Amino acid sequence: MEKTQRLQRYKDRVCLVTASSTGIGKAVATRFAEEGATVIINSRKKENVDPVVKELTDRGLKAVAYPANVSNDKERQAMVAFIKEKYGKLDVLIPNAAINLHFGRTLDTSPSQFDKTISVNLKSVFLLVQECHELLTKGTKPAVLLIASYLAYQGENFLGIYAMTKTALLGLNKVLARELQEDGIRVNCLAPGLIKTTFSKDLWDGREREAVDNLKLRRLGTVDDIANATSFLCCEDADYIVGETIMVGGMITQRL
Ligand code: NAP
Repeated sequence: MEKTQRLQRYKDRVCLVTASSTGIGKAVATRFAEEGATVIINSRKKENVDPVVKELTDRGLKAVAYPANVSNDKERQAMVAFIKEKYGKLDVLIPNAAINLHFGRTLDTSPSQFDKTISVNLKSVFLLVQECHELLTKGTKPAVLLIASYLAYQGENFLGIYAMTKTALLGLNKVLARELQEDGIRVNCLAPGLIKTTFSKDLWDGREREAVDNLKLRRLGTVDDIANATSFLCCEDADYIVGETIMVGGMITQRL
C-alpha cells in the first residue's frame, strides 16, 4: 500500500525500532514511516542500515540511520543521546533486537553464549527502556512494545536459552507496564509466531510444509502481519491496552 493510503497515526512522532535493517524490525519501522513518523533505523552494521534509510527517503518518508550494537553500552547510549540532541523526545520505542547463538541441546550452551544471549535479548531491552525513559516522558502518548516470541510460552529444545530470555520479557513487560503508566507511558509486549525471516530460517527452510502443518492457520507469518499489529498497538487506538502480551501467531494456542 502507498504511504498516502495509510492512516497518518504517527505524524510528528519519533519512533526507534532496534534491529530494523531487515526482517520484522524493518517492516515495523517502514509502517511507522508510512503512517507519518520519523523512524530511526538501527542495527549493528552501517552497510545494512544505510540502504533502508535510502529506500524509505527515496519514497518521501522520514528516516535516519543509527548503527549501534544494542548490547554495547557506549554505542547504545550514544544512540539515545543522538535522539535527545536531534528530536528532544521519543514517542515509540521498540527494542526488537535478539540473537540465538546455540541451536541444539540446551545443556550444551556455553557460558559465553548464555551471557551474550541474555545481554542482547534481555539486558539491553531493560537498559534501553531505562535510558529512553526521560525522552519518552516528553513524547505524545508514548508507547513501548517489547518483542517476545511464541517460544516464550512453550520453550524449545533447540533454542532453549533464547526461549528463556523471551519468557523473561513477559515478566519485564508486566513490571514496566505498572511502573511507567504513572508517567503516561504504555508498555505492552508482542509475541510473534513463526515469521518467515532469516532469523527463523532453520525452523522452516527446506521443511516449510512440515512447519505449516503444525500451524492451525496453515501458513507461516509474514513481517507485515507483525507490522499490522504493531502499528495498532503503539498508537492511541490501543490506549486502553496496557501490560498485555499479544500473540500474533496464526492461532498458536500455548499460554503460560
Ligand atoms: P532478522 O530478520 O534475522 O533480523 C535481525 C536484525 O537484528 C538485523 O537487522 C540485524 O542487523 C539486527 N541485529 C542483530 N544483533 C543486533 C544487535 N546486537 N544490535 C542491533 N541490531 C542487531 O530477525 P527477525 O526474525 O526480524 O527477528 C526480530 C525480532 O522478532 C527478534 O526479537 C526475534 O526474537 C523476534 N521473533 C522472530 C520470530 C521469527 O519467526 N522470525 C519469531 C518470534 C520472535 P545487523 O546484522 O546489521 O546487526
